[in-house]
Amino acid sequence: MSEILLKSCGTVLTMDDSRRELVDCDVRLRDGVIVEIGEGLATTGEAILASGCVVTPGLVNTHHHLYQTLTRAVPGGQDALLFGWLQTLYPIWSRFGPEEMFVSAQIGLAELALSGCSLTSDHLYLYPNGSRLDDTIDAARDVGLRFHPTRGAMSIGESDGGLPPDALVEEESDILNDAIRVIDAHHDGSEGAMVRVGVAPCSPFSVSRELMRDAAVLARDKGVMMHTHLAENEEDIAYSLEKFGCRPGQYAEDLGWTGADVWHAHCVKLDGQEIDLFARSRTGVAHCPCSNCRLGSGIAPVRAMRDAGVPVGLGVDGSASNDAGNLVAEARQVLLLQRVASGADAMSAREALEIATRGGAEVLGRSDCGQIAVGKRADVAIWDVSGIESAGSWDPAALLLAGPTRVRDLFVEGRQVVRDGQVSTFDLPRAIERQNTLARALAG
Ligand SMILES: [Zn+2]
Repeated sequence: MSEILLKSCGTVLTMDDSRRELVDCDVRLRDGVIVEIGEGLATTGEAILASGCVVTPGLVNTHHHLYQTLTRAVPGGQDALLFGWLQTLYPIWSRFGPEEMFVSAQIGLAELALSGCSLTSDHLYLYPNGSRLDDTIDAARDVGLRFHPTRGAMSIGESDGGLPPDALVEEESDILNDAIRVIDAHHDGSEGAMVRVGVAPCSPFSVSRELMRDAAVLARDKGVMMHTHLAENEEDIAYSLEKFGCRPGQYAEDLGWTGADVWHAHCVKLDGQEIDLFARSRTGVAHCPCSNCRLGSGIAPVRAMRDAGVPVGLGVDGSASNDAGNLVAEARQVLLLQRVASGADAMSAREALEIATRGGAEVLGRSDCGQIAVGKRADVAIWDVSGIESAGSWDPAALLLAGPTRVRDLFVEGRQVVRDGQVSTFDLPRAIERQNTLARALAG
C-alpha cells in the first residue's frame, strides 16, 4: 500500500459534479486513487503540506505532436500559414529516427508535467527511419504521465496530389497492421489505465477516404478511440469542398467519424449544423487556442460548442506550431480568445480551468480522471500562489487570471512526478542536453 496525504490544502477546486471549492482540507491518495477528502486526517505514510496552495485536478491535454519539440521556431516556418508551414517542416521531420522520437517525447511530456498536466494524448503520424509509436510510450513511462498515444498516419504523398513528400507516407495496409500491433501490445482499457492507444489518420487531406473508413472500423472493433485534425482553417474547408464535395463535418459523419469515441483537433471553422452534429453525437473537440493564434487559423466557436453540449478539451498542439507546451498558459489563452470573440463575460477563469481538467478527461473517455473526488484517480496538481504572479490577488483560486504557470507538485496515479517545481522521475537536464544536440544535428 502506498499512501500520500495532501495536508491543509488552501483551496481545492474539485471539478466534481457540484464543482465544489473546499477550503483548508486534506486529500488522501492511496494506491493510485483518491480515497478520502476531509479535515484533520492523519497518516502513517508521507504527508505533504499544501497550506495556502490552490489544488486542482491534474490538467488534461487532448492534442499534441510531441516529436515537434525538436523543431520549435524553425526559421522557415515561423511566419507561414498551415500548408506552407507543413511543407517547410516535412523534409526536416523525414530525417527523424527512434532516438529523436524518444527524446523529443521526453521533453514534451516533462514540459507538460511542469505546467500541471497529468494526462496527455499524442498524435504521431509519421514514422521515418524505423521510428515507432513505442518510442513515445517508453518516454511516457520514464516521465510518469498518463498517456494516450495515437497511431497516426499519412498515405497520400506529393505524387498522388497530397501535401507530404512521398518518403513520409506509408502503405495503407502497413498502417492498419501497425495500428493493430500497437493496440495489442500497449492498450489498456481498464479503469486507472496508464496507457491507452488510439487510431488517428493525420487529416482528411493526407489519407484516403478508404483509410478513414477502415480506421474507424478497426478502432471500433478494438474498442479504442479515434482522433484526427478537422476544419482547422479556411484552406481546410476549401479543400474539403473541392475534393470531397462537402464540408468536413459531413465528411466525418459519412465515414463513421462521429460519436463519443471520436475527438477532432481544432474545429475552428465548424458551422452551426456541424456543432449540432457534434453535440448530438457526443463527438469531442480538442481546442488548441495558441496554435490557432500562431498559425492565424481563427477563433474556434468554443462558447457555442459548450452551450450546445459538445465535449470540449484543451490541447497545446505540436511544439512546432505553439511553440510552447505549457498547458496552464493554454488554459488562460482559451478565455482570452473567447473574450476577443464574444466579450468579457464569454468565459470565466473557472470555466476555462474546467475545460482544461474535467473537460479534457471527458473528451478522452476518462470518467475516472479530471476531478478531485473520492474514487477518482490520484492525478492532482498543487499550485503555489505565494509568488509574485499572485501577489495582490483577491481570488488566488482564479489561477488563470493571476497565478503561476508552473506547478509546485504534481501527482499522477498517486506518484509524485513534479516536486517543488522540478521533475522528479527522470534526468531532465540530461534530456535537454540530448535534445539540443539532436536539434543542432538536424539543423546542420
Ligand atoms: Zn495538430
